[in-house]
Formats: sequence, C-alpha cells, structure tokens
Amino acid sequence: MNDTRKNRRTFLKYSAVMTAATGLLSSCASVDDYLFDDKNDLDDEVVIVGGGIAGLYLAKQLRAKQLEFRLYEASNYLGGRIKSFSGRDYGASLLSKSDALANLMVDELKMTRIPMDKESFYFGEGMQTLVDLLVERIIGLIPYRNFRMRYQLIEIQKQTSGYELTFQAGQGQKRVRCQRLALAVPPSQWGRIKGLLDLPEMEIAKNLHNSMQTESAIKLILPMSSIQGVSKSLAEFNIGNFSVRQILKKHPTALPAELDVFYKSNINFSIDYVYSELKKKLQVNYPFQKLPSDQYFGWSQAPYVQGAYFKLSGAYMADKTSPFQILGDSVSAVAPNRIEGALQSAKLAAEAFV
Ligand SMILES: Cc1cc2nc3c(=O)[nH]c(=O)nc-3n(C[C@H](O)[C@H](O)[C@H](O)COP(=O)(O)OP(=O)(O)OC[C@H]3O[C@@H](n4cnc5c(N)ncnc54)[C@H](O)[C@@H]3O)c2cc1C
Repeated sequence: MNDTRKNRRTFLKYSAVMTAATGLLSSCASVDDYLFDDKNDLDDEVVIVGGGIAGLYLAKQLRAKQLEFRLYEASNYLGGRIKSFSGRDYGASLLSKSDALANLMVDELKMTRIPMDKESFYFGEGMQTLVDLLVERIIGLIPYRNFRMRYQLIEIQKQTSGYELTFQAGQGQKRVRCQRLALAVPPSQWGRIKGLLDLPEMEIAKNLHNSMQTESAIKLILPMSSIQGVSKSLAEFNIGNFSVRQILKKHPTALPAELDVFYKSNINFSIDYVYSELKKKLQVNYPFQKLPSDQYFGWSQAPYVQGAYFKLSGAYMADKTSPFQILGDSVSAVAPNRIEGALQSAKLAAEAFV
C-alpha cells in the first residue's frame, strides 16, 4: 500500500476514535455529578493541569509506570498549541529530526514522517494526529477516570499537606485536593490562577514570569496557486516589523499543495494588516476579505493560551525532589518554545513523580 493511502486510512481510523473519545470527554464535564461518584481527594494521583503536548506526554510517562493521574484541561479539546483542520496545521507544524523524544514517540505511534528539509519533518495528516494517537494510548477504557475537559484551574491554595485546587467547570466550581501537582499551562495563564504566583514553589518561575515577552501569531493557510514570489519550501523573512515563516508542504491527501504563513510579533496586528503586508511582499493574489475561520487562526484569540510564544528571561531549573512540577515549552532549558522543549520538560517532571 502506498504511504498516501496508508496515511489516509490511519487518519480516518484515528479520527473516528478521537471523535468518539473527545465527544465522550467533553460531555463528561456536564454529566459527572450524575453518573459518577466524583471524589475530590486525589492524594493518590498526580494531578496534571493543562492538556497540551507537555501535559499529555507526562500522562503517557505516568501511565507507562502505572502511576495514577488525572488531567484537567480548560478547553474542549486536547493539544493546546497543536491544532489542525483537514491536515492543515494552525499551530505547530514541524518536528526536528534531532528531537530524540519526539522521534521515539513517532516510531512508537507508527507515524509516517514527511521530510521538510535537512532538519525537520511533518505529518501529512497534520500535527494533531500525533496528539490524537497519543491520547488514544493514554485514554484507557474509561476516559472519565483520567481526563476532565472544560475544567479551568482558577485558584490554588497551599495546605498543611498538599494543595487545594478550584476549577471552573461548566456551570459550577469544583474543588479537589492533591499532594502531587504538575502545572502544564503556558505562563500567559499563570497570573489568571488566583494564589499561584504566591506559592513559594513558584518563586523562581515568578521572577521569570515578570520578564515574560509574548509573541502572537496569525497563521494563514493559502492555496499555493495564489502565491508568487518566495518559492523556497521553508523560508523566514521580515516584512516591516513582523517576521514570517513560510512553509510549503507537499500534501499527500490535500491537493493543491498548501502554503502556511505565520507572523509573530509583540503587537496584536489585525488580520487585514497582516494580509495587506504579505500581499505586497509575496504577491499574494487571493480574494481575501474576511477569510472563513478555517483559513486562518489568530493565537492571541485562543482563550486559554493568548499568544503563540512566551519568552522568559532565563531557564527554569526544576527541583527534582518537589511534588510540584512546572512543565511546558516555555520553561525548557533545552529547546524553549518548541514541542521538543515541552516533551523534555514533561520527561523531567515524570522523573520527579516516579
Ligand atoms: C503558530 C505556531 C506555530 C508553531 N510552530 C511550531 C513548530 O513548527 N515546531 C515546534 O516544535 N513548535 C512550534 N510551535 C510551538 C509549539 O506549539 C509549542 O511549543 C507546544 O505546543 C507547547 O505545548 P505545551 O503543552 O507546553 O503548551 P500548550 O500547547 O499551550 O498547552 C497548554 C494547555 O493548557 C490549557 N490551559 C491553560 N490554562 C488552563 C487552566 N487554567 N486550567 C486548565 N487548563 C489550562 C490550554 O487550554 C492548553 O491546552 C508553534 C506554536 C504556534 C502557536
């Protein structure tokens, strides 16, 4: 069977699994009180807050070591800044060929890499297949056992022993207690969680947080045919005071080939402005008035992320003995602001809990 057909079949199979799984997970938040005895003492479990790749990868590690965990995600989907529709990536697109953890996982999940250039590769069906396959591995037979969707952490209090967490969930608030906590939400959200920055455990992270620089991104998906000008498959350049990364992918299932363009900046540019600047430089000739939402995504609008990259002034050194671990791409000393960093930070956190 050729790779394209194999990819497509795998994709369809896992789409079906994930549609069922995420449907079940999303509905859980509203029916939990009725169907389940929802205990609020989680002293025997590791509580993971944030269902991006860092939180999910930690969950995978814990499951492999047969440690109990419960993961809380504020939105109604898993993956965080990994987001794809119809194989097009609106968040992260590329993985590094030298990223040992990602490569191990990609092999384990039997995914097919498509080379982008000498350093990186992507997936024909979109980066979200990585998330979907990962979730499928860790979800278990009773998803509700380990996952809570649409649970936003809004307050944390330190207790004599452990922590009390308050979540905004559907129509009400839920409180749980735990001894071991993994914070896998981006630093843009730390200040929105009451009491978090006052914890002694956050002392170092808080200093870094004060220096945080946020970069935002609008990711545009345009048909190749509408672009003239820069033709390299992977190119980075500046237009005015924002920077652009152009990714031309050869899509096995979605012809014609797609073009991803994104810009990042400290300023919140309007989509019209971005497009008008791109138009001049790339001679984009696309009838852009108001694109349907599946053709662009503005990361500053994502309610639980609010930006694309969060740059801290230094590396966060995790305390390997602490039952409170911070993870995510921004706190990684190895590969900050990349999936690689998110995975590395999750691996370190897992070592602390095991
Ligand atoms: C446009 C764009 C392009 C990119 N391109 C690449 C690329 O090509 N290669 C690469 O390696 N990286 C890329 N990145 C970066 C990559 O996406 C991130 O490094 C990675 O996805 C971060 O994962 P994370 O788990 O640390 O954080 P996130 O993905 O941000 O996950 C955090 C999760 O926490 C949840 N959350 C937030 N607040 C709360 C709360 N209070 N309670 C409960 N849950 C909460 C969020 O909903 C989210 O699901 C790109 C990012 C963007 C935006």
